[in-house]
Amino acid sequence: MQPLTRRSLLALFAVMPVIGKACQPLPGQTLPEQTHYDTIVIGAGAAGLAAAQTLQDANRSVLLLEARDRVGGRVHTDYDFAPHPVELGAEFLHGENIATWDWVRRYRLATLAAFDHYRHQFVYAHQALLPFRQWSTMPGLEALDLMDGSPIDALIASWIDEGKPDVSLAQFLARQQIELSPDTRRLVDHFLSGSYGANLDQLGVYGLAESTYAGDGDRYFRLRPGYSHLLAKLAVGLNIQYATPVVRIGWSPSGVQIQTDTAQIYTAQQIVITLPLALLQANAVEFTPPLPASKLNAIQGLGAGHITKLILKFDQPFWPRALESCLTTQDTQFWWRSGWQRHNEAPVLTAFTGATGADTLGALGREGSIRAGLQQLEQIFEQPLAERLTDALFVDWQADPYARMAYSYVPVNGMGLRSQLAQPVEQVLFFAGEATHPTRTATVHGALESGLRAAREILSRHRHRSAS
Ligand SMILES: Cc1cc2nc3c(=O)[nH]c(=O)nc-3n(C[C@H](O)[C@H](O)[C@H](O)COP(=O)(O)OP(=O)(O)OC[C@H]3O[C@@H](n4cnc5c(N)ncnc54)[C@H](O)[C@@H]3O)c2cc1C
Repeated sequence: MQPLTRRSLLALFAVMPVIGKACQPLPGQTLPEQTHYDTIVIGAGAAGLAAAQTLQDANRSVLLLEARDRVGGRVHTDYDFAPHPVELGAEFLHGENIATWDWVRRYRLATLAAFDHYRHQFVYAHQALLPFRQWSTMPGLEALDLMDGSPIDALIASWIDEGKPDVSLAQFLARQQIELSPDTRRLVDHFLSGSYGANLDQLGVYGLAESTYAGDGDRYFRLRPGYSHLLAKLAVGLNIQYATPVVRIGWSPSGVQIQTDTAQIYTAQQIVITLPLALLQANAVEFTPPLPASKLNAIQGLGAGHITKLILKFDQPFWPRALESCLTTQDTQFWWRSGWQRHNEAPVLTAFTGATGADTLGALGREGSIRAGLQQLEQIFEQPLAERLTDALFVDWQADPYARMAYSYVPVNGMGLRSQLAQPVEQVLFFAGEATHPTRTATVHGALESGLRAAREILSRHRHRSAS
């Protein structure tokens, strides 16, 4: 049985001279200022920063337009809540071999091991708090030990090899006659919900096989100075326009014209779009003309997964010293110690809740979620806790206007759509962001790699043009 990690979840189962005719000013619009760049990158999250840095290093003129007053996007560290950083968005480096380490080493950032020993992982099921060694023997869980070569992994692989239709993981388990007790099913569903932002009945088996994270490694880490520190380092020296939401993108094969919410116009030879999938799905930014059908098909065919984080601070720790994390059958799903391995760890627990569980907490709002979280912790640890709560944060990423989601997933019949989403349009619209990575989705390293990929596509386009 492997420790609980994302894998082991599967394991546990210029235009403007040229833009001319095609990009006329929009009706009634004056052009308050016209600024031209070789490339404009929309969004200063991991993907946008990696793309901009690569292009700038290649001596291209680059502007980053960012809606928020900060960089990082879905990476956001709080430095005030506790004596140590607390992650509101991305928290872990998923693997010892991932691309993020290139920057971690370049910037000499210290890391802290997380989930590094299963004896620190607990489960709450059947009204009991059990250490890993006991719960890993729960009936049904052995069938879902999905690491490479494990029964379920092999079953999915042979299902695909035999060309059987894409089905949800829930349907797949039913067809394989893998029966789970209600508690086991909730545990598996909760782990999937956290890892993919989607439930058993939302995830397609072909998509699961596609998101392999192969070669990334199974060890998890936090960044000692907080994840935002890495993104802030990436942003150094880049030309970033903050608090500048893009509202409209006019494009033609000869270039791009961008309009911001204050009717500012920027022009570029090409742009890199790193908007979160949910914003593309909601047409939060208008494309003129509309994106081609294949792109719209990819946007609508992928899933935008939901996650909330409920972060509770107490007067003192009340959990066993050995407990690092606890997967539960309760609605809050998965708890962990936010300051694990830190010398100045504050008594802070994070509930990481995904998919329909996140929607439930989102509907309860901050106060309701705090109440629900406290009640569930009281049940697990069998003691009253309300008086001991000293502070709380509730982060609902679906309610964030510049994310509206946590990370993407591949539903039934969605295989291949990530690559389709990544394809450039007319060599002027380039796409990056976690949802465009074919295999390392839903991660910071996937987003970073997608930014590098988009930048290289642009640089190779330039090389071809100069050669011809
Ligand atoms: C709760 C949570 C936990 C996570 N945990 C992990 C983890 O432990 N490890 C991990 O590797 N990954 C994790 N992830 C996933 C990871 O955070 C994302 O995959 C990654 O940060 C996405 O980067 P991105 O650049 O694709 O998108 P984003 O970071 O969302 O960047 C897009 C940027 O576009 C900006 N933007 C939006 N609209 C506009 C507009 N109209 N005009 C201009 N700018 C705009 C946004 O403000 C944002 O800055 C987690 C995510 C969440 C939400």
